[in-house]
Amino acid sequence: MSVHVIGAGLAGLAAACQLTELGHHVVVFEAAPQAGGRARSYFDKQLGCRIDNGNHLLLSGNISALSYLHRIGARRSLLGPAQPVFPFRDVKTGEAWTLRLNQGGFPWWVFSPSRRVPGTRLHQYLALLKLRRATQSDNVASLLGNSGQLYHRLLKPLAISALNTMPHEAAAEPLRAVLAETIDRGGYATLPRWAKLGLSETFIDPALEWLRNHGADIRMGERVTELQQGQATVVAVPPWIAAELVPGLTVPTEYESICNLHFRAQMDPGEAGFWGLTGGLSEWVFARRDVISVTISAANRYMDMDQEAIAERVWGELAKTFKLDSAVPPHRVLWEKRATILATPAQLARRPGTRTANPSVVLAGDWTDTGLPPTIEGAIRSGNAAAMALVNQA
Ligand SMILES: Cc1cc2nc3c(=O)[nH]c(=O)nc-3n(C[C@H](O)[C@H](O)[C@H](O)COP(=O)(O)OP(=O)(O)OC[C@H]3O[C@@H](n4cnc5c(N)ncnc54)[C@H](O)[C@@H]3O)c2cc1C
Repeated sequence: MSVHVIGAGLAGLAAACQLTELGHHVVVFEAAPQAGGRARSYFDKQLGCRIDNGNHLLLSGNISALSYLHRIGARRSLLGPAQPVFPFRDVKTGEAWTLRLNQGGFPWWVFSPSRRVPGTRLHQYLALLKLRRATQSDNVASLLGNSGQLYHRLLKPLAISALNTMPHEAAAEPLRAVLAETIDRGGYATLPRWAKLGLSETFIDPALEWLRNHGADIRMGERVTELQQGQATVVAVPPWIAAELVPGLTVPTEYESICNLHFRAQMDPGEAGFWGLTGGLSEWVFARRDVISVTISAANRYMDMDQEAIAERVWGELAKTFKLDSAVPPHRVLWEKRATILATPAQLARRPGTRTANPSVVLAGDWTDTGLPPTIEGAIRSGNAAAMALVNQA
């Protein structure tokens, strides 16, 4: 079968690889001059080095993402600590703590005060079990509560980073799905991982090379404006474009942004190479070779702030917390305005499944109904599902 894949983000590339491996001839159409969509690297002239559009964190329980990397020969291009450790700092109080999960499935770590969030009691962690009862209409804060140290120092950062939506709005079901595939399975499924050199070097360039080596046709800078009738097609574009290409499609309509700040500076990577930050604007900081990168998720709430003011505040937090020089180093602030769909129950209810009314057209993308939040794992899983849906009906 000959298949057109529209969009060379992770969903489209995963679909293309799956179809190619099954012996089908794939033509990938990508509107932009480069592949990768929302997960890409580029050379930043201002900083004089390559940076990612944003820090992307995987967990070792993201098995579709890891299988994809294995297939394209990039499994070893991930970096991360050998143990499931999550160091945190509170930028207001200076407090430091490290969540130290144990490798196995039973969460022994919550029994040890030195391995859990300071100021929390064992019984409070039982609240997480409520997630198992989450229904489609529940949001995270109403189900788990929105006060106390456990909320501010663990559940809130976890929900914001996993769902890119504030906990009072974020749907609880996809958070349950993430935890079921990671923390619930144990520390071995919760090892933090990220791209060693860059997102493109890990997730995108090896996939393009693998596809080309296996006979796929990749066409960059080719924007598709209508689908060819009767042609087997994977539509792997953002939701608003999919709605234009596929008549009658219901898609999510609200988005959340992510702000990433890249500072041309160095810091000791510490035990894990990254930290979670609470009590300020900064949420996650990654100490890369010669760039310190900070992520602020669910960033619509800061949209009115001046970018330079954000950079100064964030650097102030880093300088105070990690004892760095207080002068703000050269930096780049990157806002991805439509980083992901807003993961509210109402928006998630608008996610379409893989199949469309047209049997030769299937959908892929982190915004489709994967059961997961809009993430790399969801995007890759959606691409695999789209490929299999086409193959199974051919
Ligand atoms: C700043 C940031 C940080 C993130 N952090 C994380 C993280 O830590 N962990 C995590 O798991 N996920 C994270 N994500 C989410 C992750 O990046 C996405 O889930 C994933 O990249 C989505 O892939 P996709 O293929 O579904 O969509 P996209 O990447 O949007 O791909 C769609 C592609 O379609 C192309 N296209 C559009 N229109 C057309 C057309 N008409 N014809 C041809 N091509 C077209 C686009 O150019 C694009 O390349 C983050 C996202 C951002 C923006």
